[in-house]
Parts: sequence; structure tokens; C-alpha cells
Amino acid sequence: MSPSLPYARIALAIPVPELFDYRVPAELDASVVPGARVRVPFGRGVRIGYCIERSAEQRHEKPKSIEAVVDDAPLLEPDLLQLVRWTADYYLCSVGEVIEAAIPKGVREGKSRTIRWVRRSPTADSFQDRGNGIEGRARLLAILAERGPLPIEELLAAGEVGESAVKTLAKRGAVEIVRAPTREFGGLRDPRGASTSGPVPWVTPPPYRLTPEQRAAVDAIEESLDPPRFRPMVLEGVTGSGKTEVYLHAIKAALDRGRGALVLLPEISLTPQTVDRFKERIGEVAVLHSLLTPVERSMHYGRLRQREVRVAIGARSAIFAPIPDLGLIIVDECHEDSYKQESTPRYHARDLSVVRAAQRGIPVLLGSATPSLETQENIARGRYTVLSLPRRVTGHGRAHVELVDRRAEPKREGPPPMLGPKLILRLREALEDGDQAVLFLNRRGFARRIHCPSCGFQLSCTDCDIALTYHKRDDRSLCHYCGTVRSVPTACPDCSMPGIRRTLPGTEKIEETLTAIFPGVPVGRLDRDTATSGTRMQEILAAFRRGETRILVGTQMVAKGHDIPGVTMVGVIDADVALGMPDFRAAERTAQLLCQVAGRAGRGEKPGRVVIQTRQPDHYALQAAASQDLGLVRRQEATVRRLLKYPPYGFLVRILCEDGDEMRALQTAEGLRHFIDGAGVAAVQPLGPAPAPMAKLRGRHRVHILLKSQDRSALHGVASRVARAKPRWSTTKVIVDVDPTSLM
Ligand code: ADP
Ligand code: ZN
Repeated sequence: MSPSLPYARIALAIPVPELFDYRVPAELDASVVPGARVRVPFGRGVRIGYCIERSAEQRHEKPKSIEAVVDDAPLLEPDLLQLVRWTADYYLCSVGEVIEAAIPKGVREGKSRTIRWVRRSPTADSFQDRGNGIEGRARLLAILAERGPLPIEELLAAGEVGESAVKTLAKRGAVEIVRAPTREFGGLRDPRGASTSGPVPWVTPPPYRLTPEQRAAVDAIEESLDPPRFRPMVLEGVTGSGKTEVYLHAIKAALDRGRGALVLLPEISLTPQTVDRFKERIGEVAVLHSLLTPVERSMHYGRLRQREVRVAIGARSAIFAPIPDLGLIIVDECHEDSYKQESTPRYHARDLSVVRAAQRGIPVLLGSATPSLETQENIARGRYTVLSLPRRVTGHGRAHVELVDRRAEPKREGPPPMLGPKLILRLREALEDGDQAVLFLNRRGFARRIHCPSCGFQLSCTDCDIALTYHKRDDRSLCHYCGTVRSVPTACPDCSMPGIRRTLPGTEKIEETLTAIFPGVPVGRLDRDTATSGTRMQEILAAFRRGETRILVGTQMVAKGHDIPGVTMVGVIDADVALGMPDFRAAERTAQLLCQVAGRAGRGEKPGRVVIQTRQPDHYALQAAASQDLGLVRRQEATVRRLLKYPPYGFLVRILCEDGDEMRALQTAEGLRHFIDGAGVAAVQPLGPAPAPMAKLRGRHRVHILLKSQDRSALHGVASRVARAKPRWSTTKVIVDVDPTSLM
């Protein structure tokens, strides 16, 4: 791509997928390179955009000219620009929108904060000094040689000399004084590509040897580092099986070869303890996540760009981190849905990690105890290699899992209590032994499922194989995928017992109940109401860790929580709530969640006990949890998912219409459905419009259409036409979600 091509394609951060053509004035010819940030006239104003490529042809009658280039160096390196373009194309959004998500705001806005930097000039090595103050000047040169370019104030302080010394050196051609952003905002690059500057990473060898399985995993990773090649690998192992240890060795292996590494963790796992564990072993790392202030983020980002650090640890958006010579990507807990961004650009960081690794030709390691069916399918097809850590390194083996069939419990007057006799018994045993317990309640059951309290039968849509939900307003049941409405039977269709239930799971009641059953036993609660901030969450967990609370009741958060050695007992209050979610992934998620919850028990000296209350103990998701074998879910679901073209045997796009006005949301959705039908692509099957399971959110009514297909490019074609057509329909907000994980 020659910079002398007369035009440039510019991405603007607006929700229009097109690139805009501008003329490159002669004086900007050298600096308008791909990745450069530019100022361009747009409409009646001026906008910031990004040069994506230079071009020879002129697609407009009269293209306007670029006004200015904003930064000294392009903001995006070529490899990131490539990833950004792929993301925009695949997730059907504009390149500008992806760039704005990829580069922290603080970095984008830091352009004006420049200071004076001093660096050695290329001829400094052969420089012959003379005269007064020669010692001080020699000191400065030595400092610069050792530490690379420095802000002038920092250099003067380190050399204990005045500014005149630097001025003399500059006059004599030994150093250069350059204006550049502060270190926080990217700083000054070393012209010699400061690959040797910055602290050398150090590794304290752990006081133990890797297990043979860990060794085999590390060897496999090293093998794909020499020479580097694209290879997706899945590190399968429960919590405590030594995955992090493998990550640390793999990162060390990449660093030893002069390459950098990127580690993605779910936001909730990015605690100071986790970061410290990495720092202790591999030296300085850049940390990137949303809880940092913009300045902190820019600082970490800048240190990567400056090549001062080569390892970044971060949440989802760190997939776009500018890692020098990236040689390895690690995605921990790769099954986590939080890797999918739920606002534009709706990318999935796990999937992008594989794309980025493929683009660069490097290995990528996906770690999980409970890989998604998509990942399992990639393994089954031989696309991904499995490295498995079958055992816990320390402590005890697997917890003992008991499925408690609530249908078999003695019947009493009134609704059955949330805590059954078996659960209470195990709880009492644990407390009497001086241990701690965790009780898990799935509260994501915002919608009422319809089920039989006697046999556990649950009403589902026969076409879509998802749970039907109850709608009180018209006393009907509804399928949130295809929109079919049915009346609710009064008797169970399976066992014909009258008294079918439409329940909403209980909530903080449990804390109360526990206090009544175990007076004087301190109970902690961790849910979205109590953990109002990250700090608050850490406090609740810390109190439990210190033993100040003996029982911890909580939602999803306790499932993903952290090690607490005193916990020997974990209770799941109602596993069926998760099964009753109107989502084709309900069974898969239930099994994953229950396995994670079970992983909380018995990590200390004593073995763990897990009690799962359910009315569907024979369901394969529960059986999978009891035997900790998620392959069971995959084998059971393969047929149905194949038949209904659900992932991993088909691809999905969700089109969500949101509007304050219910009718307008529906009309837009119907219009889009008409448009899709008009496209007449036989390989793509539209479903709906139907009200989304969360039919109203923040005052907006939500209606969705699902597009299913086994032909990814046909689906992409239809979805991109919808994405392009959407602004013309109405004022309704239309969201196109490629590979949706949440169908709520
Ligand atoms: P995971 O990331 O799978 O949860 P970790 O790597 O954190 O597992 O390991 C769990 C615990 O076991 C940690 O305290 C770790 O220091 C320790 N550990 C890891 N590998 C070994 C080993 N080979 N020998 C002894 N202890 C180990
Ligand atoms: Zn249906």
C-alpha cells in the first residue's frame, strides 16, 4: 500500500458501516497511513476519523480533503487494524465503532497532553564531548542509554543536573528534545524499537514441580511457539487443577522467546489477588479493565505501546490490547458469557481471540472446566486440541454430589419450603463440624416457568424446545422464540395431577429462614442487592473467608466466587430454575453452573459435599452435574440442536427491536420480517417476531426475530442487509446481534 495514493478511506465512529473517501493533501501524504487518526470535514462540522487504507480510485464526485493528522504515530498498529476490520465486518457494525471500543477513551483523548522528552540521537555513540560540565552530561547520556527516552524533568532529576546540560547536548547533536504525550498517553517511542528496554521479566520458580499433565500441556504450548504457528488449544480442568500454573509457564515460554502475551479473564475474576499472582511470577503486567480510571487505563495501555511491558491481563476489551510482538493468547474461563459484549460492537472476545491468533499465526489457549458446546464441538471436529488436567493438584478429589428429589420428600400443608430436610441436615452437619457452607439460589428466573410440583414436568414449546413462560396478564403461556401462545393446562399433561404451578423463585427469604432454623449462626448474603460495588462484594467475601459469617447465601456471584478453604458444603436450592429459562442453552448452562457451584466445596483439608435440590433428578443436565461429565449434555443435545439448527450445528443472528411504544416495536419487527422474507434466502430461517423474554426493559418494549441457518455466509448476507436497511424503517432502535449469547 503506497502512501502516495491520492485518496484515503476513513472510518468515522458513527453507526454507518461505510468508509468515507477523502483526498490526502500533499503535505499530509507521509502521515496519513493506515491506523492514523485524522480530522476531516463531515456534514457541516469536523469529525475525528481513522485512516483504514489509501486508495487510487475516487468513488465520490468531489471528495473533501483531510484537514489534519492528530497524532505523531498511528494509533493502531497494522495487526490491530486487521482485527478491528474483521470485527466490524463480522459483527455488522462500523469500523469506527470498533475502534472507539478498542482504544480506551483516555488514550484517544490524551493527544494534547504533550511534554518534552529527551532521547539519544542516532550518532550519540560516536559523540565526543568536551569542556565544562562534561561529567554531568556523560551521566545524562549513560542514563538515556540505560533507560531509553525520558521526560526531561525525570532525566534532570536522575542526573542531578540543570537544564543547560541537556541543551548543550542537544546543540552538540548527542540528544534530541522532542514533544510527545506523557507516558500515560503513549509517550515517546524509541526509534531503535526499544525491544530491549524496560524491566526484564523474572520468574520465581514455584516450590514444586509440574504434574505430568501440566508438563504435557506446557510442552504442547511451547511446541507451537517454536516456530510460532496458529493452534487453538483447550485447557480442560476444574478449579484447582493447576490451570493458572500452566498459563504462567506458557507466558514465561513466550517471554523467553522475546514475545508478548495476552491473558483474558472474566471481569469478576480480575481481583487484586489474581493480578498479584501474575505479577509475582512474571514481573510487571499491564492491567486493563473497566474499573480503572481513564488515566490508569491509558497508563497501562501506554506502557504496552512503549514496549515497557509485554504482558497484558484484562477483561473482554483487552482482546484489542496493543501487545508488543504478541506470541500467545490465553482466555481463562472461556465458557463465560461475559466475554460477549452486550452493546455495540457486540463481539465475543473468546471468538476474537481465535481470530487474532489465526491472523498472527500464534497459539491460543482456552481454559475451562466447563467448555461450551461450541468449544466441545470444535474439539470433536479436530479443530481444537485438548490438553486436560484431570485432577485437582492439592486437597481432595471431586466433591460428593447428591441429587435430592423434592418430589419424594414428605408432603406437608402449604407450599413446600425452599430448604428441604436433606439440605438442612447436611447444613447442620457441616455447622456442627465447625465448617462453612454456601447456598446457591438462581435468581435469574425473572419469568415464571410452568411446571408440575408433583412430577416435575415442565411445559415447553414443541417447535423450539425451550421452556414456555407464564404471562399473568392474559393467563397464557408463551414461547419467546416463535411467539406461539397457548393456554395453560389445569392438570399436568404428564401425570395428570391437578395444580400446575407458575412460580417465581423466592429470594432473600432464605436468609430469614436460615436465621430461624439456625439461631445465632451468622449468615452472609451475596447478590446484586448487597454487592452494590466491586469493593462491597470483596468485603462480603472477605467476612466469609475470615469465618465471621458461617453460611453464605447468594446468586450467580457465589458460583463464580473464589476459594474459601473452610467450605465443605454447598447447597443448590432449586436447580430447576435454571432449567426453566426460556433459552435453548438452558440445560447446558444449568450443567455448567452446577459444576462450578460443586467446585466451591471441599477445597481445603476436608472433602466436599454438594446437595442439589430438584424435581427433575433424571434430567441429563443434573446427571451431568452429578457425574461432572459435560459430554453428557453434548451427546444428549446433539440431535435436537442439529434438527433445530441451534449452535453449534447452525448459526444464529438475533434482531432486537426496542421502542418505548409497544406497537411501534412490533410494527418495525414485522416490517423487518417482511423484508427478510422478501430477500427470499431459503437457507436462512426466520423465527418470530416474538416478544423477547425480557419484554420490557428500562421502559422500552422489546420484540425480536431470530435468524437461523447452517450456511454462515447466507446468514451473514441477510443479516447485513437488515443492518443496512434498519435506519430507514422507523425510529425504533434495531439491534443486530451476531452469534447472540443472551436471548433474553
Ligand atoms: P486453577 O487455575 O486450575 O484453579 P491453580 O493453578 O491456581 O489452579 O492451582 C491450584 C493450586 O495448586 C494453587 O495454589 C497452586 O499454587 C497449586 N499448584 C499448581 N500446580 C501445582 C503443582 N504442580 N504442584 C503443587 N501445587 C501446585
Ligand atoms: Zn416456539
